[in-house]
Amino acid sequence: IADWQQITGYFNRLDAASDRISVKEIGKTTLGKPMIVAFISTPENLKNLESYRQMSQKLADPRQVKSQAELESLIKNGKTIVSISCSIHSTEIVASQMSMNLAYELVTANDDETKEILDNTILLLIPSSNPDGINIVANWYRKNLGTKSEGTSPPELYHHYAGHDNNRDWFMLNLRETQNITKLFWQEWFPQVVYDVHQMGQNGARFVIPPFFDPPNPRIPPLILREVGLVGYKMAADLQAANIGGVATNTTFDTWWHGGFRSAPYYHNSIGILSEAASANLMSPVVITRDKLVKSGRARGLNSPLETATNHPDIWEGGTWRPIDIAQIEMTASRALLQLAAKFRPRYLRNFYELGKANLERQKDEPQAFIVTAGQPNAETVARFLEILMWQGMEVHQMTRELEIVPDRNKPNDFGEIPLGSFLVFTNQPQKNNVLSLFERQVYPQRLNANGEAEVPYDVAGWTLPLQMGVETVAAWQIKDLAQHRNTLRKIENSNQARKILNLKVTNGSFQALPNPLKSKPKIGLYRGFTSSMDEGWTRLVLDNHRIPFRAVTDADFRRKKLDYDAIIFPSQSEKEIVEGLKAENYPAEFSGGITEQGVENLKNFVEKGGKLICFDDSCELVIKRFNLPVKNVLNNLKRSEFYNPGSVVQLKVDAGSALSKNLGENVAAYFINSSAFEITDTNKVKSVARYAEKDVLLSGWVLGEKYMNGKTAIAETDYGQGKIILFAFRPQHRGQTFATFPFIFNALEK
Ligand SMILES: [Zn+2]
Repeated sequence: IADWQQITGYFNRLDAASDRISVKEIGKTTLGKPMIVAFISTPENLKNLESYRQMSQKLADPRQVKSQAELESLIKNGKTIVSISCSIHSTEIVASQMSMNLAYELVTANDDETKEILDNTILLLIPSSNPDGINIVANWYRKNLGTKSEGTSPPELYHHYAGHDNNRDWFMLNLRETQNITKLFWQEWFPQVVYDVHQMGQNGARFVIPPFFDPPNPRIPPLILREVGLVGYKMAADLQAANIGGVATNTTFDTWWHGGFRSAPYYHNSIGILSEAASANLMSPVVITRDKLVKSGRARGLNSPLETATNHPDIWEGGTWRPIDIAQIEMTASRALLQLAAKFRPRYLRNFYELGKANLERQKDEPQAFIVTAGQPNAETVARFLEILMWQGMEVHQMTRELEIVPDRNKPNDFGEIPLGSFLVFTNQPQKNNVLSLFERQVYPQRLNANGEAEVPYDVAGWTLPLQMGVETVAAWQIKDLAQHRNTLRKIENSNQARKILNLKVTNGSFQALPNPLKSKPKIGLYRGFTSSMDEGWTRLVLDNHRIPFRAVTDADFRRKKLDYDAIIFPSQSEKEIVEGLKAENYPAEFSGGITEQGVENLKNFVEKGGKLICFDDSCELVIKRFNLPVKNVLNNLKRSEFYNPGSVVQLKVDAGSALSKNLGENVAAYFINSSAFEITDTNKVKSVARYAEKDVLLSGWVLGEKYMNGKTAIAETDYGQGKIILFAFRPQHRGQTFATFPFIFNALEK
């Protein structure tokens, strides 16, 4: 296993030895390591990198192309910009190692096919989009070779804040890594093809590639879906020609959700490819018996890895599965993609341009603009929201005179005034679909299996960003006399310009931490076990981003210590995970065992003596049970044919009487992801602070069986001994995106 220093060392040596590769740093990781991209092409192309970058940038914005002749010249002379990114998920380690082989092959081979690739494309090879995790995994793997823990996942998140959720951040840009690559892609290089290389579980198909499964997101241009499918089929055909079995298309992964490495490109008119290879045990081979393949069972679109189908014509019968098998498949797939990008270079460039151009025309179901209205109380959140949009290349304008707009699509003659200081985001910009997908409410199609159960989507169903962030926006279906007023609009060039308009202090650098919202200085503890809870990581990110000091409370602290805190937060984790932790049969004693029963007793003692306990979603179960609270999660025993909500924005009704609801309105949008809904059986003891709305609870996404959550408690509080317990039925800090519900956390933490 090569760690990050070795990988970057290797790439630097290739750079020194070959004029077909040029390695650049694109910023630092969360833990301060360099992130690199290797530009691979012919020596001539690499000498003129900047001019090729400018060509791609022009094609990305058809308004910059002044004539048909200029367009034809760009298509004739430009190169297909392709990016391949490896091992964002660090336990899916093989691609990061494979990246060195791929680079070596491309810079040394002299066959016609390689020459054609180098002539026609510029490859931006990212050996890892999560370098910190490469080191975490490499260190863990080396330390445990030959022990019972060989090949296990490390007992910590492989991204400091997000773990596996680091690939859920591509429209939110909470993480340094996402910010760096988003800048590389959508401020600088505008790749026409982006390929993100992953691994999945061990026992299913060997390799899953596009076309993807249903449902497609309606905001992805149909041409993009077709081109994604074409690349997938080229990969599949090349793998079959090499006699590699077990390759499946049209299964498991869909294109509904917006926030992945390969999905963000769809909203920039680019082709995004995901491949998922079956895993080994990190870099150790595994034996996959036929029995394991049988037991792996059904995936969406594939009944069994042992069944032939049109989307899976050649089965893999089982046997030894080695990292080198994975690497060879990924190399073949990468070359298949590069061949297409080279051979059909003019087609990729023209399609890319035409999609951007089509977006400049408004369609009838689209508003003219979205308006971020002036005078919102949460100016810092508004500023962050605008910074997120602009960082991904979205255009934002400031109004310098009042405008009148039609806010209601069904009342085209009713104009309303928009105050000065508001911001406009026009839909007719090259990345129109990004604007629409982030501002609109998602309506996920009701998809049920034959037995009436909800079909599980790949990720969440709704994400509408202004709702999640509690930023007020209005759709403008018509702007009165826009042509006449256009010169009164000012394009915002950077986030500090927006901050000035919002009367905020300018900041140094991008995505700076926000001011600490707490008035008091509570001693805060955040439970941090060894089971790598992403929810713990996101909680940490929210606290760090708001400069709120806290300490991690470990399993060992719970077992032995007096818990010396004012408040302890439990992120969303199951009772079993918290109490039992990692299994001793797989992990060394220092990492296994959870907080134990003794820890539960110590926790009770902590609250009885006056401590405050704050639980998010799943962890409420532990406290309700062990503390005998008169609260019940009414969703607990429902079937997926009765109730299902895989990730949606929902409406809360907030009780104004509680200290927890300070600075919050009556209506707050919250994030619900397979979350809970409480019924309080003794209202003298436990108080409801917020409920899910009695009707129209769904704001964006999908809820099956809405009635089960209607009117149920979403936040509850109760005294316990001299202390207090606060139960969140949902995750108020979900993926660091839900700024709308962060204030509940801050209020809960106040002394
Ligand atoms: Zn992955």
